[in-house]
Amino acid sequence: MLVDMSELNDVKERARVLVAGAGPTGLTLACDLARRGVPHLLIEAQDELFPGARGKGLQPRTLEVFDDLGLVDAVLAAGGRYPRVLDWEGAVRGETFDLVEPMPPRPGVPHHESLMLPQWRTQRLLLDRLRELGGDVRFGTRLTGLTPDAEGVTVRLTGPEGEFTVRAGYAVGADGGRSAVRKQLGIGMEGETVDPRPMIVADVRLTGLDREHWHAWRKAEGGGATLCPLRGTGDFQLQAQYDDPDARPDTSPEGIRALIGARTVLDAADVHEVLWASEFRARTALAERFRDGRVFLAGDAAHLHSPAGGQGLNTGIQDAYNLGWKLAAADGPQDPLLDTYEAERLPLAADVLGLSTRIHRATVAGRVLQRGRDTQQLDLHYRDSALTRQHGAPAGELRAGDRAPDARCTAPDGTVFRLFDAFRGPHCTLLTFGGAPPLPALPSYTRATGLRHCVVAATEPHAEGAYGTGTYLVRPDGYVAVAG
Ligand SMILES: Cc1cc2nc3c(=O)[nH]c(=O)nc-3n(C[C@H](O)[C@H](O)[C@H](O)COP(=O)(O)OP(=O)(O)OC[C@H]3O[C@@H](n4cnc5c(N)ncnc54)[C@H](O)[C@@H]3O)c2cc1C
Repeated sequence: MLVDMSELNDVKERARVLVAGAGPTGLTLACDLARRGVPHLLIEAQDELFPGARGKGLQPRTLEVFDDLGLVDAVLAAGGRYPRVLDWEGAVRGETFDLVEPMPPRPGVPHHESLMLPQWRTQRLLLDRLRELGGDVRFGTRLTGLTPDAEGVTVRLTGPEGEFTVRAGYAVGADGGRSAVRKQLGIGMEGETVDPRPMIVADVRLTGLDREHWHAWRKAEGGGATLCPLRGTGDFQLQAQYDDPDARPDTSPEGIRALIGARTVLDAADVHEVLWASEFRARTALAERFRDGRVFLAGDAAHLHSPAGGQGLNTGIQDAYNLGWKLAAADGPQDPLLDTYEAERLPLAADVLGLSTRIHRATVAGRVLQRGRDTQQLDLHYRDSALTRQHGAPAGELRAGDRAPDARCTAPDGTVFRLFDAFRGPHCTLLTFGGAPPLPALPSYTRATGLRHCVVAATEPHAEGAYGTGTYLVRPDGYVAVAG
């Protein structure tokens, strides 16, 4: 049966972009496509959003993406700071330390610290924003097949109404580590087990622990266990490892209660409710390619991280943010703009995988590696991208390809504005500081994205150092494409 999109109620037009998977990656991409007015269909195999707190760390760069997409206030209101870790020795309270290095406020960085927000709530807030933007998720609909051709992609779906196919201009596999899209394309995913010992992650309600600390029993018999109070909720997240690689974790509520009773200061009866539980082994893996013609991979479908370092969800959100504007602006699948998605994101994902694996291995070796500035994702750049052009010597510290920092600026008419306010939206921004000459030429994608021109007469010292008296074209995702 061939179903036209108009028969699917949810979308009025044929999907130009089919997004498979409403995890953080797919939801972010759908928000970006929705605000750009790109017809799309976001499908999710499950009947509801993922219910666990799993990826609970949002990095500062992700908060900047959420600012641009219009949901940062809701995210900041719902989340909170990481608590200090309290190292228990059995029933004795030991030292406390910061797992996430406290970062002083920095000019140019509106969100200088990581935020804790349970993954289920991040996804809920993304869905709320998507609905505000006129989009939605089609739940209970699984991608089962995919055939790209010269004119588009035929996607086979199974939903409440049975099997049907849809035609899309592009398809994006944001369908997680076991990605059906990746398998359909025959794209390999090279990887290794970072740690063969099984781990449990679970969300629990309990009494008997303060909510000011992330409680850790690192030397508990059978394997370390931690209980972290989840900001904005009354719940805790349990993370536990088994020393025995052949152990068979019991993720039933009784099993979780027994584990907490055995490895922590609590009794099993202190655990009132087990909301969600899952077992996993820390793996790292990278897809061979992130693109095959009209089909793209993003998020865990393209790169799998150890949970150490809090990078997986954040890297997936950055993938979506990199891809959204390119899908909207590309002049057909041959447009070289689309080639830059894989060229920019694959090497960067490889670097981030190296970081999370290093943090994991150091933690296993008994050294708790603090999550520092390199985990914040603010210093990632696209200096080597084909989209990046540096004309002449840099006018300031900033290079073409870098993230454009925020600053308070004064326009020639005396109006005061923030750069991030000027960047917010689907457009590119042309910034001219101190009467700098215009850029020799603007890339053709600026016609599709729209262009906003901002002239800066005066700014703060940090921005004078960064931007100098230069002219900059800032991409819709906040990176300097052209500097002159
Ligand atoms: C214990 C733990 C802690 C973590 N902590 C952090 C952290 O602090 N910070 C961080 O950044 N990351 C963290 N992560 C990683 C993070 O959870 C993942 O990287 C993130 O969920 C990936 O998002 P995604 O949208 O790419 O994929 P997923 O979240 O896996 O979403 C994929 C979606 O696709 C759907 N789907 C699958 N197949 C199909 C199909 N065929 N058709 C339609 N839909 C389909 C799935 O149901 C799912 O909803 C942690 C992970 C673990 C296990």
